[in-house]
Amino acid sequence: MVPRPEWVCSGPDGGLHEDASFRQIDVEVACPPNDRDEVSWVGDYALTLVAHSWLSEIQDLIDPGRIHLGLVRRNGEIVEGWSTIHEYRPPPLLATEGSTKTCPTCGYAYTVLHGREFFSDEAVLGRPLILNSNGIFVREDLARARNLRTPRGAFEPGLIEFETGGQ
Ligand SMILES: [Zn+2]
Repeated sequence: MVPRPEWVCSGPDGGLHEDASFRQIDVEVACPPNDRDEVSWVGDYALTLVAHSWLSEIQDLIDPGRIHLGLVRRNGEIVEGWSTIHEYRPPPLLATEGSTKTCPTCGYAYTVLHGREFFSDEAVLGRPLILNSNGIFVREDLARARNLRTPRGAFEPGLIEFETGGQ
């Protein structure tokens, strides 16, 4: 049995997820990410991995007080070209039909999203980059200004609006 990494939180309902109250998360992976992709995930925990070839497109948008990069290792050796990326207690994504439940231990948001997705936390306003378990969100004007490309292997991005009174 593989011991649970220290950055995985076990919520009161027994669900395991990336600990939202961590800052830098370093991981040991069993196999390296697929080089055809520029975003990937660690195992069952929804921790995002990002390839440096795409990270370089958004690196200047990272607020180091909120968003943290970590090391990826395999057999103790650093996997070049990849980092973990994680936001400390990020704002949750909500949806018109669906539910978002927050882990009382670490603040991780479990989301079931149907219908129109939106942010409702005023803390998102003006931020250039937000990262939660649902995705990587770049402010629209910045993404357009730099003609930001979609990472290889990722879904085509949609536009997420801010709405008040969501939760
Ligand atoms: Zn938790």
